[in-house]
Amino acid sequence: MRQADPSLRKPRRQLTLPGTGVVPGIAIGPIAFAAEPKLEITRQKIAAADIAAERRTLDEAVVRARQQLIKLRARLAHLPEESEGELGPLLDAHVHMLDKSRLMRAIYAAIEEKLVSATTAVLDVSEAQATALLENQSLSGDDSGAAARQAEEVRDLGRRLLRNLIHLPFRSFTGLPPGSLLVADSLRPADAALIAPNHFAGIITEEGSDGGHTAVMLRAIGIPAVLGVSGLIAAAREGSLAVLDGTTGQITLNPGTRLLAHAAQSRTRFASAQRGLARLRRLASTTTDHVPIELQANIELPFELPMVVRSGASGVGLMRSEFLFMNRDNLPDEATQLAIYRDTIEAMDGDPVTIRLLDWGSDKQIEALVTAGLVPETREENPALGLRGVRLLGDAPSLLETQLAAMLRAAIYGPVRILIPMVCRPREITLVRTAMNRVWRRLEAEHVRLPAAPPPLGVMIETPAAAIAAAALARHADFFSIGTNDLTMYTLAADRALPARFGLYDALEPPVLHLIAMIVAAAAQARIPVSLCGELASRPEAAPLLIGLGLRSLSMHGSAILPVKRVVRSVSLSQCASLAAAALSTSDVAAIHDLLNSPNNAAK
Ligand code: PEP
Ligand code: MG
Repeated sequence: MRQADPSLRKPRRQLTLPGTGVVPGIAIGPIAFAAEPKLEITRQKIAAADIAAERRTLDEAVVRARQQLIKLRARLAHLPEESEGELGPLLDAHVHMLDKSRLMRAIYAAIEEKLVSATTAVLDVSEAQATALLENQSLSGDDSGAAARQAEEVRDLGRRLLRNLIHLPFRSFTGLPPGSLLVADSLRPADAALIAPNHFAGIITEEGSDGGHTAVMLRAIGIPAVLGVSGLIAAAREGSLAVLDGTTGQITLNPGTRLLAHAAQSRTRFASAQRGLARLRRLASTTTDHVPIELQANIELPFELPMVVRSGASGVGLMRSEFLFMNRDNLPDEATQLAIYRDTIEAMDGDPVTIRLLDWGSDKQIEALVTAGLVPETREENPALGLRGVRLLGDAPSLLETQLAAMLRAAIYGPVRILIPMVCRPREITLVRTAMNRVWRRLEAEHVRLPAAPPPLGVMIETPAAAIAAAALARHADFFSIGTNDLTMYTLAADRALPARFGLYDALEPPVLHLIAMIVAAAAQARIPVSLCGELASRPEAAPLLIGLGLRSLSMHGSAILPVKRVVRSVSLSQCASLAAAALSTSDVAAIHDLLNSPNNAAK
């Protein structure tokens, strides 16, 4: 865990840093650094014959650490010059230490001379050097703090190297003070899933964007959050006060009294606007000309259910089952999965629940799959383009069949639909349907209680291949669900985890909108239902456009249901149709943003 920071270089004056707001709301509180996952390291001796291999392992970790630091350093360019000048030297010092320093020389020497593993060498040498720096300081009577600062830098770099040498274990946030602002360099989706909904006032990270699965999870938890704040770790001090604005994406460290008073007022205004939305709960989701628009919820974990039920969602349009597989030592068995699916179905009380088969890969990592030997230990060069979604399910029939069995059994508790992730080709649907029929017959033979017929089997349309081949896929699928998060990434060749300010990743880009229109047309032609469950559905200002593109069913995070419903109730179908026609006639995304933000868009 990070200690109270002794660094004298960290600024104490008010400092505002920009990031990407992913969960709206204002939070004020003291900073609590996310506890480093406890690095369980067994000290290991090695044979002389292994020296070269251990050196290579260390070389690779150094390369990764250097790349990370250079990336962090480059991001500071987005900050005002003054802040960059203040924070840059801290990161430069770390890069310099990786290149040539007493620390690195001693670590390599320890591998060779003491015959210890790279991990042991990093751990022992960084700790010994940090301790020596502090001892020398007290012997020399130097109270400038320089030695304490250097010791902290040595330890920081040691931790970075260790993180690059070993797999990160699960993180824990339970010991951190309630009501604080959680600060971390980055959070994986699995880490975010461990945050208790009411524990922190807000969440801020240095890395991350609003398109990744960490943002998805944070929206589910509903705590105001800002990700991708360059310079955060270098500038923030444990325990000092900060203000987070999840709407503008700004965070302010060491706020002055004026800013604090203003933030407190905004927080009160935000809370009362939220209460104002509650009156919409019981009203119908229809346009002004009475066209019903189905608004469903996306859920990741069961703790979201009460909020989803309160939001008035008419079902679950996407249950991301992969979150049930995270933060566990072993894979959830059929009974464990069944219990969770059953709870969800019963909570929705007759409204449909669409459960997606495990979508492993890309930014979602699951340790239990590695332990079970179902996925390789080392990540692929380009995980978004490799083993993902249905590709893994095809490789791991027992994983697929266990999940299908739990879903089929759960279907006696209410209407269920099963969704296949990352489909590109018809044969991937056939593969899952064949497996589903096989499991169905087995359960029948075992006299397990089942519904009258197998649940509808649908596909996520989230790759350009699937969008273009939608007509062919529709012959095999019972319904479509459009995943704009991935569809945008693969269409624009822009990582969804890129911070928004790089401006590449945007679901409103014309090519994505044209694909959505194509998918909706293919579904209509084949007479199968189509819904959209990407994050675009959660943006109230985009609702008229999506309705105009022909969608009548949207699935979004629970807290977006009422804001989206307010917009739906304020527009007519003809307004939506002209908005969509205008959007499809331009090739400039800025023009589409203008259209959505214009006062004529009823969303405004
Ligand atoms: C999507 O890609 O739009 C989607 C809903 O799936 P996920 O965000 O889980 O990849
Ligand atoms: Mg997806």
